[in-house]
Amino acid sequence: CCIIKDEWPGHSVDLFTYPEHYHDDIESVYIPHGVIMDRIECLASSIQQDFEDHLVVLCVLKGGYKFCSDLVDFIKVLGRNSGKYLETRVEFIRLKSYLVRNFINDRSTEELHIIGSPDLSFLRGKSVLIVEAMIDTGKTMTALLKHVVTFEPKMVKVAGLLVKRIPNMAETLLDYVGFEIPNLFVVGYALDYNEYFRDLNVIWVYSQVHHKIISH
Ligand code: 5GP
Repeated sequence: CCIIKDEWPGHSVDLFTYPEHYHDDIESVYIPHGVIMDRIECLASSIQQDFEDHLVVLCVLKGGYKFCSDLVDFIKVLGRNSGKYLETRVEFIRLKSYLVRNFINDRSTEELHIIGSPDLSFLRGKSVLIVEAMIDTGKTMTALLKHVVTFEPKMVKVAGLLVKRIPNMAETLLDYVGFEIPNLFVVGYALDYNEYFRDLNVIWVYSQVHHKIISH
């Protein structure tokens, strides 16, 4: 995949337009929109080759909605131009993970909670593509995969736009990766910080020093 090195400073914000209300928060543009789109087109091409005739896309909300929408658009265009059209159904899932305290050994374990309908029985016998914007520790994806396979799909593949370079990196969970990034907190392109910044087209590093908007 496309590796972004630790020392990458991003592009100067003066080269781009962005919403006025984020003026004081953006230091640099880490991944421009055009680069994101070009990379997604490339992932769409691999997906189009790997899947046979149908595809159920399981979009992980909220962060994955832009990635999913652009990925599915590219898959459709590629299908029209290549003559191998994948019948695509898009479904959405929203997850929350909670730390659950075990009072016997006083340890905390993370539990995945599915908001909305946890019944994914429509996946039975289907070729499934899970679409998630960010893979950090991989715990969320591991739990989701465990849940998805209980519905006996024909096959399951995972597309992640960003994967963080951390010890025990989770890239083995992924079949399609957009970018490998350093261990930084990023926002934009539907990724949020307290629901802010989803509306940015670009991805940038959220500096904890600049918390003007958040503290309102
Ligand atoms: P994991 O279970 O892989 O550690 O975490 C995945 C989830 O954590 C993502 O779906 C996302 O919601 C959140 N997350 C992890 N890192 C970031 C980040 O850098 N930016 C944002 N906005 N969310 C993140």
